[in-house]
Amino acid sequence: MKSIMIDPGHGGSDSGATAWGIAEKEWNLKMSLYQFKRLKEMGASVSLTRSQDQTLEPNRRAALIRNRYDYCISNHFNAYNGSVRGIETIHSHYAKPALAQALARGLQEATGLPIRRVFDRKMQSGEDYYFMHRKTGTTQVVIIEYGFLDHSEDVGFYSQEENFYSAAEAVIKVLCLYLGIRYTEKDNTKSYPKKLYRVQVGAYGTKTAALKIAEELKEKGYETVIK
Ligand SMILES: [Zn+2]
Repeated sequence: MKSIMIDPGHGGSDSGATAWGIAEKEWNLKMSLYQFKRLKEMGASVSLTRSQDQTLEPNRRAALIRNRYDYCISNHFNAYNGSVRGIETIHSHYAKPALAQALARGLQEATGLPIRRVFDRKMQSGEDYYFMHRKTGTTQVVIIEYGFLDHSEDVGFYSQEENFYSAAEAVIKVLCLYLGIRYTEKDNTKSYPKKLYRVQVGAYGTKTAALKIAEELKEKGYETVIK
């Protein structure tokens, strides 16, 4: 089975982009933890470079990836000047662009956001510009920029949990093809309900009375919360 590393970009003292009070490192982590869990559930051989808010120096991060996995996605959100938007995926100068293209297309279909560009960037020496490509050896790395944190439409889109996870799913779906595992649909309506209607049963002057009613409800199979 093919293996994959999921890399939540930045972390710890490196926040990445910030806009509207959102730190990129947090969204990268949220995206990555979800994708890790979902791929694990589907039986993938999957790892994370970080699973918490932790500083990872470029060399350390690259060493965790270098030659150790077939694929790696590095999750990021962009920022520029507030006026550009859309999805970007970046592949190594030495890699075929197919995976980066498939990821960008999958994201576009699922989110409706525009694809800004799929590209590679090299230095004058001919080496890859980004260390995530330059220092990761045989592991095929694609950097995913899901959208621009400082663009109101992009950030508005991803601020909705449902949209955020539909983007996560789009990436997982493409990765499954490359990893050779079967993608199983996630029933998002269960985990991320659009609306919750709270039903109150009663308000009681004594805790004993409240506990008694709670017991009765539990026996009947209702989830119960006492406030
Ligand atoms: Zn970033």
